[in-house]
Formats: sequence, structure tokens, C-alpha cells
Amino acid sequence: METMNLQPFTFEGISNERPLVIAGPCSAESEAQMVQTAQQLAALGIKIFRAGIWKPRTRPGSFEGYGSLALPWMQSVKEATGMLTATEVANVKHVYEALKAGIDILWIGARTSANPFAVQEIADALRGVDVPVLVKNPVNPDLELWIGAIERLYMAGVTRLAAGHRGFSTYEKIAYRNDPNWQIPIELRRRIPNIPLIVDPSHICGKRDTLFEITQKAMDLNYDGIIIEAHIDPDHAMSDAKQQLRPDQLGELLKKLVIRKEYIENGSLVTIEELRSQIDKIDDKIVDLLEKRMHIAEEIGKIKKENNIAVLQTKRWHQIITQRMKEAREKGLSEHFIENIFRAIHEESINHQTRIMNEN
Ligand code: PEP
Ligand code: MN
Repeated sequence: METMNLQPFTFEGISNERPLVIAGPCSAESEAQMVQTAQQLAALGIKIFRAGIWKPRTRPGSFEGYGSLALPWMQSVKEATGMLTATEVANVKHVYEALKAGIDILWIGARTSANPFAVQEIADALRGVDVPVLVKNPVNPDLELWIGAIERLYMAGVTRLAAGHRGFSTYEKIAYRNDPNWQIPIELRRRIPNIPLIVDPSHICGKRDTLFEITQKAMDLNYDGIIIEAHIDPDHAMSDAKQQLRPDQLGELLKKLVIRKEYIENGSLVTIEELRSQIDKIDDKIVDLLEKRMHIAEEIGKIKKENNIAVLQTKRWHQIITQRMKEAREKGLSEHFIENIFRAIHEESINHQTRIMNEN
């Protein structure tokens, strides 16, 4: 698809300064919980209120949201604070009800953006409606699926679009509830340069203590906004209790954030440009060396073929990886980083050698 002609994800009466902050509870639990949370958030200067009306839960039996019953509470939030409201829609019924109830911003949840049928239905329901939509990444680390969801909405005429980064599920135990996989949103931004990127640290982290570091990292990567869960009494929240902050804690987090500029207006830009050109030169050399390394691997492949030796020599591979990791440690590079690089290089060597083996 040619470049998307998106409208800015900005709102009347809300400053365009980064970051745009959307905050509120995971779920709408009662009118009092909503209005009290919203009042405290509004006092911090936050202008957009989020709350889940319909909650997608992994297993049945847990709290699935109050549904349409909770929509008037969003209206109460608006009346009490003047905030704009945002909620998740996962099907056509949600779209109609949310729009009828005057919800200002819709978001597509991670489980929905993984499903092209569902996204297409929502997109069709939004044809001719001018409402901003935040498209969260799909649960699985699939950039094409994320882009596909954004395209489906765009093709239905929704032009106020933003991408929500909430991390990706993994089967392995990791430090976060969802793997941030930063390279995926970075690549999304390269492919759709003008799409605003909004971080959802709550669903990446899954618990409170890492929220700041993830949010700061997103700001350092030049994200445009933050959607974050806040609740007046997080420990007693009906969903996602461990990751929600009290409004005052959110206030602290926001105050601590360092927001950097994307472009530098003064002379230091030159320095960055100079350093970047040095990096470009080093990268050229890396590619050059990799090509040379592959040629040598191919030579080895020919010898293996002539002598009928298997491509994979586990002992040799073990030796390479331990030696390189030792060198990395000494040079202050992380073992994880070097291991990933050499795994990729080794895989490519094996592919080259396998090709040679099978040539006749
Ligand atoms: C949410 O924002 O409360 C939510 C359910 O998010 P996600 O779709 O990212 O899991
Ligand atoms: Mn949640």
C-alpha cells in the first residue's frame, strides 16, 4: 500500500506536546470508581480517560466487564471532568453502542487485532464515521498482522489512527508479562512513518515496579503517547490488579519521565550526524566481513560435501559460541546479544552449506 495519508491524532483542547496521555482503570467497575479515578487524573492534567467496558479474558469465569451497563458511567466521567473517553471495541455491537454513548476514542485490543475477520467487521462498521482509533499490536509478534489491522481501518476511511504497543505473548517466562520486542514497533514506524506510536506499559509489564523503565524507554524511542492503567484502589481492582497505579503514583511516574526532542535545533545535530556517518561506515564493514565469512563457510561446505561430512558439527558450534561469549564478556557486551548474533550467523552459514550439499 502506498503511504497512508493519516490525520493527526490530536484533539481539540488538548496540547499537541508529547506525550499524549490516556489513563484510567483496566475495567469500568462502578460509577463511583470511574468518577473518582477520573477526577484525580484530571487534577494531574490528564485529559483522556480509558476504561474497559467489555473485557476480553483469557479464561471464562473471571470478570468480563459490565458491558453496556457501564457506558453511562463514561458519560458521568465526561460531565464531572470534561475528559475525553476511550474504550475497547471487539465487535460490531461494541462499536455501535460505544458510538451511541458518545465515546470519543476507540481501541482495538490485542486479541482482536490478531483476527482479520474481526478487524474487518469493525472497519466496515466504522465506514463514514470520523472517530479516532488506536490499534494495539496483536498478541503474537507478527508485524504484518498489526499493519494489516491498521490498513483495514484505513481502507474503510478511518484516518485518525494510532498504533498501541502493548507487548507480545511468549510461552517462556520473561521479566515482563508481555515481551516488548521493541524492534517490531520500530519497524512499524519505518513502514508507516507518520503513525503515532502509543506505549501501553501496563500490559507490557504486568506489574507496577517496571512501569517507569518501560515508559521511559518508549519516550527515548520517541513514542508519541502513553496509555496506562490507573485505579483509585489498584489492589482491589476487578482485573489487572498488579499492574495498575493509583493516580498519585501515576503523577509521580509522569513527573519523573524525561522527554527528549526528536530533532535538535542547535549545533549538536552536526555531532550526531558525524557519529551516524561513522556508524554507517562500521556497518558497511560488518556487512563486508559477513560476506567474506559466508564465502569461507561455503568453501568448508564444499569440503564437507566431497568427504560426505554432515553440515552441522555440534562440537564446533559449541566452541564458537562459548569462545565468542567469553570475548563479549571481556569487551563489556552482553552475552545474550553476542549469542543472538552468532546464532543468526551460524544459521546463515548452515543455509549456505546446505545449499552447496544439495547442488549437483
Ligand atoms: C486493556 O487495555 O485493558 C486490554 C485488555 O489490553 P490488551 O488488548 O492490550 O490486552
Ligand atoms: Mn488491563
